[in-house]
Amino acid sequence: MSTTTRIAIVGAGLGGLICARVLQQHGVPVAVFEREPAPNSRSQGGTLDIQEDTGQAALRASGLFDEFLALSRPEGQEWRLYDRHATLIRHDRAGEDDLSRPEIDRGQLRALLLDSLAPGTVRWGQSVKAVTPLPRGTARLHHHDRTGEDFDLVIGADGAWSRVRPALSDAQPTYTGVTLVEAHFDDVDHHHPGIARLVGRGTMSAKAGRRSLVLQRNSNGHVRAYINFRGPQDWHAGLDLTDTLAVRARLLAQYQGWHESLLDILRHNEGGFINRPMFVLPVHHAWQRVPGITLLGDAAHLMPPVGVGANLALLDGVELARAVIDHPTIDRALEAYESVMLPRATDNARTAEQMLTTLMPDTDSDDAAFPDSLWPADTLPDPRPAHTD
Ligand SMILES: Cc1cc2nc3c(=O)[nH]c(=O)nc-3n(C[C@H](O)[C@H](O)[C@H](O)COP(=O)(O)OP(=O)(O)OC[C@H]3O[C@@H](n4cnc5c(N)ncnc54)[C@H](O)[C@@H]3O)c2cc1C
Repeated sequence: MSTTTRIAIVGAGLGGLICARVLQQHGVPVAVFEREPAPNSRSQGGTLDIQEDTGQAALRASGLFDEFLALSRPEGQEWRLYDRHATLIRHDRAGEDDLSRPEIDRGQLRALLLDSLAPGTVRWGQSVKAVTPLPRGTARLHHHDRTGEDFDLVIGADGAWSRVRPALSDAQPTYTGVTLVEAHFDDVDHHHPGIARLVGRGTMSAKAGRRSLVLQRNSNGHVRAYINFRGPQDWHAGLDLTDTLAVRARLLAQYQGWHESLLDILRHNEGGFINRPMFVLPVHHAWQRVPGITLLGDAAHLMPPVGVGANLALLDGVELARAVIDHPTIDRALEAYESVMLPRATDNARTAEQMLTTLMPDTDSDDAAFPDSLWPADTLPDPRPAHTD
């Protein structure tokens, strides 16, 4: 690929940044357009488990694996499952040397990727409005101030509500029927010992029917809670979502009958609650190739957050960069990249959809809280040894 090839990446998320990193490592110039005004202008999200054959493979290929490992928390793989009476159903301890899916704060991973780029690569505060294909296989990137810039390749790495995607497909994210409400706890080991006990060093999940409560330990004693339930997207009708006391009362009503130690997750969080209805793209989302434009990560295959989205975004980013480096034309590079990425995305989206149905069944029955499919036969001979109710 010529060093005069003009490449734009829309979105400085994990996928866009790792793609830019690998391109630059191989001398291919690239500009990243990001709508956020600065690197730290908003909280960068919770903890991610980075898996061996996807996210970790991508970090190795980008030469950043050792730095990742130094920041990661292998002990964060510890996992506890409770029922709604706070009975411990299952406890997976993380082995000292287990590096199959260590955790890292999303903010730390993003900062690592940003620091690996040449200064000035990311154009902060540049929200892209749309992208249109041009004759001869190039594409025009439209800014909100009505100016435009032309590129040989525009990569949409701009997440769920991508402004690049409409150039390729009509697909829109749809509501899954599951909402996740986020809450935060600071310095749990000193200020919230009950929360610290529940979450341990990693993740805990308490489940009953169509509801669950999930806690995840991030770095520095910070814990994020995810209050998950099946219900209409307007579950908060009549509520002011900024009125923390009112939201708390509504959530406590939904979790009536749950153990007091679990209800503390709803009672004692710091700050407010953040409403995050869960959206997905169709499992089979694909498009006819359009010269000079493609997608990666959530923009291409938004799926339920069951632990693969960031891993796939990283892998897409590296593979797309490699395809650009290894092929003589952009068209051949996109053919190579999309022919692998799209079927892989469909496979993962199908699995993620099944996992969401299993984890969040459409029934209030407690029997549905621990379906057999939650228990891989080879890892747990008796599915409910500690269940005493
Ligand atoms: C609660 C939760 C927990 C999760 N846990 C995990 C996990 O443990 N493991 C895992 O693998 N995945 C997890 N995921 C999924 C993961 O976070 C996403 O799949 C991943 O961040 C997608 O990366 P991306 O680079 O495609 O997009 P994003 O990270 O969404 O980045 C998109 C970027 O584009 C920018 N942008 C958007 N629009 C524009 C525009 N018009 N112009 C310019 N810039 C724009 C945004 O500001 C953003 O910086 C989780 C998701 C959630 C919600």
